[in-house]
Amino acid sequence: MNPVYRQARFISSAPDITLLPQDKVREIAFAGRSNAGKSSALNAITDQKQLARVSNTPGRTQMINLFELPDGQRLIDLPGYGYAKVPDAIKRHWQTHLQRYFVEREQLAGLILIMDIRHPLQDLDWQMIKWCAAEDVPLHILLTKADKLTYNVGKTTLLQVQRAIEDANIVATLQLFSATAKNGVDDVHEVLDAWFTGQRLV
Ligand code: GDP
Repeated sequence: MNPVYRQARFISSAPDITLLPQDKVREIAFAGRSNAGKSSALNAITDQKQLARVSNTPGRTQMINLFELPDGQRLIDLPGYGYAKVPDAIKRHWQTHLQRYFVEREQLAGLILIMDIRHPLQDLDWQMIKWCAAEDVPLHILLTKADKLTYNVGKTTLLQVQRAIEDANIVATLQLFSATAKNGVDDVHEVLDAWFTGQRLV
């Protein structure tokens, strides 16, 4: 494992994209439906048990959480979306803010989109995918909780998602992931390494 990710530390939470740091430092964002497994993925990627808080109460996280790496670059934990019980006004607020984040955030070097492999490509996931494409933000998809499926079913799902994305003329990379089994962590590190050094994968 690249040791820099293990040294990620929480620096702050921002309620709003306008309150994010105004510097030139590259950041990589993590997004996903609530309960998709984003916090668990962040913890596995940083090899920390509690960097991002795993919750059995979906929809709880409504702040943007910032984690800093030793060189000052950042991992950004965006609020989980799509939780039915969140009031409509809050949903609309975050929809607007997430879109603004993609459009305005020049520091954004890429998005890691986390989807539960058993429920991939829901409407709001497509929304994120399309914002990335529209703003030319590199996109890497984690199909997480892959440990819930057999390897063959997981692989088939991966190919189906890949085909759906290609059919929509979207350029992205994707992989199987499991926070529980710690599968796929090295592949994510390679993506982060590339994006943080200004390279594109596709
Ligand atoms: P978030 O809302 O997207 O941050 O999701 P969490 O990381 O809090 O995870 C939601 C639930 O899914 C929790 O009960 C986790 O323990 C579980 N979970 C997350 N990742 C995995 C995984 O890779 N495998 C399995 N089996 N469960 C997972």
